[in-house]
Amino acid sequence: MGLDAFVRCRCWQDGVVTPPAALAGLIVLEDEYLGLSVPWEGHESLHNALDKWVSSACSHEDMDLVCEHVGNWASYRGLQRALGTMGWEHFPVLQGTLPNGNGGCTPASSAASALEELQFYTSHAVMGLQAVLCDADTGEVLLEQIHAFGGLNVFADGVAYGVDLDGFFVQKEGLELFRSMAFNAAGVPGTPFGARNLEVRSRLEDADVYSYTVNALVRLFEASVASGNPVVWC
Ligand SMILES: [Zn+2]
Repeated sequence: MGLDAFVRCRCWQDGVVTPPAALAGLIVLEDEYLGLSVPWEGHESLHNALDKWVSSACSHEDMDLVCEHVGNWASYRGLQRALGTMGWEHFPVLQGTLPNGNGGCTPASSAASALEELQFYTSHAVMGLQAVLCDADTGEVLLEQIHAFGGLNVFADGVAYGVDLDGFFVQKEGLELFRSMAFNAAGVPGTPFGARNLEVRSRLEDADVYSYTVNALVRLFEASVASGNPVVWC
């Protein structure tokens, strides 16, 4: 679960690969995916033949120059939030093109600017404070603040809980039932923390916390620059 993306190789559009004779003239590029001009129904064997051919048509796996898992939604939204905290005015291309769901694409004409903006982020990243719920006696971290899904971590029986800089909180159907910076978990039904004394602390976010997602985006936009093909989000 999360966001993935790929950049197609140029082998098909440059004509350096030859499809099987049965598929000749039928292959079309639709929404950045190679498909057939005939429907699936009634032509299943042709579609299967296309899938088989694409998987080994050239030296690129599935004819993708790169195929990346960008991140789960929590880390991806966290990066978006970090960009916003630094100021979207530094990231106009990323703001306009980073998707908010699984779909769409970024044209190759935006890729070089997107790379410059990611470089700016990497060299200027100022990380914010992150709230953590700790065992007050041992300091063990039990829950970290996340920036996706409204900061809600866990859902069970309609009850959700999370932690932010204003405390640990419990919600049911959007209504806040409990919030505290320091408490004994025994008094908060529905949470898995036993009877420990808990408190909310803050720490500086790890500067590398989004490096996985940033590096995946860099590889995608670099491939887009190199190939002239768009980044396709999926
Ligand atoms: Zn290829």
